[in-house]
Amino acid sequence: MGEPRARGRFGEYGGRYAPESLVEACREVAEAFREAWADPGFRGALARLLAVHAGRPTPLTPAGRLSEALGVRLYLKREDLTHTGSHKINNVLDQALLAARMGRRRLIAETGAGQHGVATATAAALLGLEATVFMGERDIERQAMNVFRMRMLGAEVVPVTTGSRTLKDATSEAMRHWVGATGDSHYCIGSVVGPDPYPWMVRELQRVIGDEARGQCAAELRTGVPDYVVACVGGGSNAAGTFAGFADTPARLVGVEAEGGAGAARGRLGVLHGCRSLFLQDDDGQITQPHSIAAGLDYPGVGPEHAHLRDLGRARYVTVTDDEAVGAAVRLARTEGIVPALESAHALAWVIRAAGDGDLPAGSTVLMTLSGRGDKDVSTLKELL
Ligand SMILES: *Cc1c(COP(=O)(O)O)cnc(C)c1O
Repeated sequence: MGEPRARGRFGEYGGRYAPESLVEACREVAEAFREAWADPGFRGALARLLAVHAGRPTPLTPAGRLSEALGVRLYLKREDLTHTGSHKINNVLDQALLAARMGRRRLIAETGAGQHGVATATAAALLGLEATVFMGERDIERQAMNVFRMRMLGAEVVPVTTGSRTLKDATSEAMRHWVGATGDSHYCIGSVVGPDPYPWMVRELQRVIGDEARGQCAAELRTGVPDYVVACVGGGSNAAGTFAGFADTPARLVGVEAEGGAGAARGRLGVLHGCRSLFLQDDDGQITQPHSIAAGLDYPGVGPEHAHLRDLGRARYVTVTDDEAVGAAVRLARTEGIVPALESAHALAWVIRAAGDGDLPAGSTVLMTLSGRGDKDVSTLKELL
């Protein structure tokens, strides 16, 4: 998985479908990122930040009791143990450092449940930048605690009152706002979506997950490489970062989507937020509202590289239901002492189902990215259990 072809294309997906001023701003981000990524000074500063602030490298944990029950050998890449509790911090610390290098003084971000907003507010505070976070009015009502955390970290939270007043509209509003602020602000997008260069830039920023896991698997597994590599997919950043570490191996790549947010498994070609990819749409081509118990999987589409990997057959995309995810979360809590984020529980739910129906052959080695911890979901779970 290298840099995409001309004009940010992954096959027929990707691109930069944005107003003139944003096309120019995206070009600047791409150039600055290429330069920074090739600069050992930048890479060193970033590696240090990820180590001393975010807690990297994260462990690879064998799930012993669960493996025994399932008849496979399951290893968990523990992004839940990072500062702020999910892989999102990998992306935002890097983008914040890049913004500072570009002389920007402010980060703009969109957020759904607030996890990317909290991570952005955290990175901004750490580096002395301002943060403006766009959030749908409905999400603000549902996620009061994260709104408070962002404000405590010094970020401005802007309520979005258009459309369904959720993530899709918050993203549109953040991009609109960036049009008038490209001179002093960097748009810190939260997944492998949006106009070029974001899909490949964010994947490169998340490949630390896959690269670390590759080294850890080499040390831990007899074969050196797992038979399966599994991750949940919202926009697709934790999966893209994980897959990147194993792209050149025979490992089978599996992305697990929410039944109600299955862009890769069930989306159709369209353009949204500056990018051509697969989106959930009605017969008129209107983007439809996704539904998932896991807020991080509540995006109506998927990043362009995942769409391309699907077409190539290099990765497979499957779906699980809310109930399966909740069941998997409880099972992990009781067998391994880990309460996962409901997003991550989707990946596990597929592993459990596939081990049961033979889709995962007995004895397979499975690397699964545990993208985040479940603290944020306890009130949701409390209602159900
Ligand atoms: C945001 C989030 C996701 C989904 O985002 P991707 O870009 O698909 O990785 C998954 N898990 C957790 C814990 C999240 O916070």
